[in-house]
Amino acid sequence: MIDLHSHSTASDGFLSPTSLVALAAKTGLRALALTDHDTVAGVAEARAAAADRGIAFVSGVEIEIDFDPGEFHLLGLGIDEEDSRLLEAMASLAKARVRRNEAIVNLLKSDGLDIDLDEIARIAGSESLGRPHIAEALLRHKIVRTKQEAFDRFLGKGKPFYMPKDCLSLSEALELIAASGGVAVAAHPYSLFVGKSKLGTVMDSWKDAGVKGIEAYHPAAKLGQCRILEAMALERGFFVTAGSDYHGPDKPVWGLGRTAGGIPIDDRYFGGISASLPSLPRLSLLD
Ligand code: AMP
Ligand code: ZN
Ligand code: FE
Ligand code: FE
Repeated sequence: MIDLHSHSTASDGFLSPTSLVALAAKTGLRALALTDHDTVAGVAEARAAAADRGIAFVSGVEIEIDFDPGEFHLLGLGIDEEDSRLLEAMASLAKARVRRNEAIVNLLKSDGLDIDLDEIARIAGSESLGRPHIAEALLRHKIVRTKQEAFDRFLGKGKPFYMPKDCLSLSEALELIAASGGVAVAAHPYSLFVGKSKLGTVMDSWKDAGVKGIEAYHPAAKLGQCRILEAMALERGFFVTAGSDYHGPDKPVWGLGRTAGGIPIDDRYFGGISASLPSLPRLSLLD
């Protein structure tokens, strides 16, 4: 079992990088990628913890790309977390995130909802705040009953308290990922909100631009949709990955190492990334 998409307290995950790796070991994972939103701050710690436990570690980051109508997240796998240009870009995304959080909180306040940034920072317990932390604040104030309801009613793209965040273009992000030694994988393509025929065209353009892999399996999609994505990706010469997008005990419900339909992620979904990044250990050598 492996997992190529997970989050830690360096962004909006629930576990520290060390605890996340400990859970991966307990779950029996042989490979894990840490892919925090717009930050590589947890990578060094996770790498050290994975080395202690004999888990193949893939450094990563999840970057939001300028896109409409839905959300486009790009995973950079195998990046060098000390690359200075990458760090600079992440620092400027962090500033954009701060501006965006302030804008959302101001909107909430102007609507009479008494939630402030200090409270959200306390919930996050880290430097990188995001909408899931704001969703948690809305939950604590009993404005919503679940964090999902907070996204569905208020914070999701197109909802009243959604605020855009300055983000990178695909070509900017691809350049950063390649220059820092990584490989680009398009995360959970259903979140783009484009229909199947348009998605084919979008995937063609990604291929031309230099995206190498498609995360066909993600827990928020149905297994049947994931199989279709896998076929569309393979047809176009992408490799296919799978992830849990683990954020903590409540998201996704199936936990680390499991994807759409709750199925455990097979080692074979490590094949594409491992062929693209020769420095990664072969899983067969970990036996
Ligand atoms: P941010 O980085 O602040 O834009 O927040 C991104 C996080 O919010 C990701 O972990 C997403 O899974 C989560 N998110 C974004 N849109 C939704 C949605 N419509 N429903 C549930 N979670 C969402
Ligand atoms: Zn997240
Ligand atoms: Fe994502
Ligand atoms: Fe994610």
